[in-house]
Amino acid sequence: MPEPWPPPFQVRLSQRAKRILVSIHPQRGLEIVTPKRLSAHQALGIIQQHRAWIDARLHARQAHLPDADAIWPEHQLPAHIHLPALDEHWQLVHLATTTRAQLHIDPAQRQLSLRGEGEQIWSLLQRWFIAHAKAQLLPALHQLAEIHNDPLQGSGIRWNHTRWGSCSRAGRINLSARLLWLEPAEMNYVLHHELNHLHHFNHSPAFWQALEARLPGALLLDRGIRHAERRASFPAWLRLV
Ligand SMILES: [Zn+2]
Repeated sequence: MPEPWPPPFQVRLSQRAKRILVSIHPQRGLEIVTPKRLSAHQALGIIQQHRAWIDARLHARQAHLPDADAIWPEHQLPAHIHLPALDEHWQLVHLATTTRAQLHIDPAQRQLSLRGEGEQIWSLLQRWFIAHAKAQLLPALHQLAEIHNDPLQGSGIRWNHTRWGSCSRAGRINLSARLLWLEPAEMNYVLHHELNHLHHFNHSPAFWQALEARLPGALLLDRGIRHAERRASFPAWLRLV
């Protein structure tokens, strides 16, 4: 299977660097070391120019290190973000600079550029996932509620590791931003599941019967998502966010 291109890399600003160079650091992995700031577009261009060299070097390293995690350390940011629920592929460029952490979003190009280092960049990324889920999932939730006459009173997005969604007695539904990594049909299922709780505040046989009636195949989908976080489509770095 061909490796995804480009591989994860970061841009490191160094006052001591005399010129722009591409290297593979044992811990930091692939990086561009540069004396001046680069735009995401410039950085991608430099990586592209060195493609043959990078492929050869990474291949050689992989031969010596069978553990893929040793090459792509978990703490390293992904170069691609695939959101199966929305069928979206985003490209992420990390420009490690000492300035305040910043996230620039280019929706037209589906490109994210992150500046900054450490914890800050992970929390910026997490905030974006939540905002993106809010913009994409909540309108779908409210639309379904209208179609099915569900008494939905409010909604929100959380970063919840343990539950896909929850429904309060007051009629408010909270969804986990991690729904973004489910398949579209599964994400849709979770919306129906929570909305159905507005009529049945439990998991009684009546609840499941009504759910299966409004969404045929619901029971099967429910079983399918129980261990979804173990799938390959759930990237390892998600555990860090
Ligand atoms: Zn439930």
